[in-house]
Formats: sequence, structure tokens, C-alpha cells
Amino acid sequence: MADVHDKKTRSYNMSRIQGKNTKPETIVRKHLFSKGFRYRLHVKDMPGKPDLVLPKYKTVIFVHGCFWHGHEGCRYFVIPKTRTEWWLNKINGNRERDKENIARLKDNGWQVLTVFECQLKKDRAQQTIKEVIGYFGVTMPRISVA
Ligand SMILES: [Zn+2]
Repeated sequence: MADVHDKKTRSYNMSRIQGKNTKPETIVRKHLFSKGFRYRLHVKDMPGKPDLVLPKYKTVIFVHGCFWHGHEGCRYFVIPKTRTEWWLNKINGNRERDKENIARLKDNGWQVLTVFECQLKKDRAQQTIKEVIGYFGVTMPRISVA
């Protein structure tokens, strides 16, 4: 079968598959950075390879895709009607792993924040970022999200 994806679509898909530097994560990074937070990215030697690690606050942040991480009650988490069981196994496995990773991080004294992709959509991003920053005990008069 011919490859129907044009180059742009394909590289977009690839970036999704690789799971690095996707847009939702970039939103979080950009705003935290602009408020003076410093972090490490994709730390491989920590459970779950957290997207952002803020050593000063002993906190990690995961930015999760709603589908792959089975965001409960989310409209972006819809199990496909074909191979349903396979997908359920796959996503439940991811969820289990997420839970274990969080437990291990907490055991090691880390605080864990999980931000889901849908919380970073245009209409909700500003509120979400506020909450994340609020979590660190910093008062933000007003932030804007591009
Ligand atoms: Zn969601």
C-alpha cells in the first residue's frame, strides 16, 4: 500500500511516537522557565523518566497523553472499537506502570505532579499552568498562555 502521509504529517506522527518535545510539554516548560523555575528534562535514571524534574522543589512533573495513559473520564480517552481488548490491555499496562513509578518516586521523597494533555488545550492551559505554579507556592498575578 502506498504511503499516503505527506512528509509533514509523517514527521508529526514521528514526533508523537517518540514522545519528546511534544507541544503540551513545551507549554509547561515555557511557562515554568519564564517564571524562573529550572528543571531537567526526561531524566532517564528516574522511575518513569519524568518529563520535568525540579530538584530544588524535589518535584517531578509528568505530562501525559490522555489516550496512552488512560485519562479517566476524559473525552480524549476513547478505546478503539476494533481490537478493543488489545488496547485495554495496553493502556491498563501503561496505567499500572505509571502508578508504580509514582509510588517509587514518592518512596524516594519526590512529589509528583501529573498533567494531562487535555488540561493543556487552549481553553484550559492558563488555569492548569496557574495550578502547577500555585503548587510551588508562588503567587502569580496573571499569566497568559499562547
Ligand atoms: Zn484528558
